[in-house]
Amino acid sequence: MSPIYRTSPVGGPPQRDFLNAVLVGTTDLRPSALLSLLKQIELCAGREPGGPRNAPRPLDLDLLLYGSRRIATPRLRVPHPRMTGRLFVLVPLADVAPRRVVPGTGKTVARLLAEARRDSTERVRRARASR
Ligand code: ADP
Ligand code: MG
Repeated sequence: MSPIYRTSPVGGPPQRDFLNAVLVGTTDLRPSALLSLLKQIELCAGREPGGPRNAPRPLDLDLLLYGSRRIATPRLRVPHPRMTGRLFVLVPLADVAPRRVVPGTGKTVARLLAEARRDSTERVRRARASR
C-alpha cells in the first residue's frame, strides 16, 4: 500500500479534501468479479449507490490496472480511463509501481507522473500519520 495522500476535490460540489491511496496485490478473481467485490466493500463502508458523480462519498474503490490487460466493457474499463492525468492517482501509484507501463500509453507510471506534474495544479500532500 502506498502512503495516504490528502488531495483537494477535483470537480463536483464544494466538499472536504479526499484521502487517496493505491494498493497493489495479487488475486484469483477475474476483473469483473474483482470490480463486484470493490463495489460490495464500498456498500459496506456506507456508500449510497447511484449518487451524483464526484459527490462526497465515504469510499471510492477504483480498479486502475489489472496486469497488462486492457478491458473495455460497459461496466469496466481498464486501465482506468481517468487515471493518466490525475496526480491524486499517479502520485500514490508511483510509490508502489513506478516502472509499470500503463497499457495503451506505452509510458511508465513515473513518466506519466512527470508529465502530469507539468500540466496540473492539483495539490497532493502526504496525510499526517494517524494515531
Ligand atoms: P468514479 O468515476 O468517481 O469512480 P463511481 O465509483 O460511481 O465513479 O463509478 C462509476 C462506474 O464506473 C462504476 O459503476 C463502474 O461500473 C464503472 N467503472 C468502469 N471502469 C471502472 C474501473 N476501472 N474501476 C472502477 N469502476 C469502473
Ligand atoms: Mg469509483
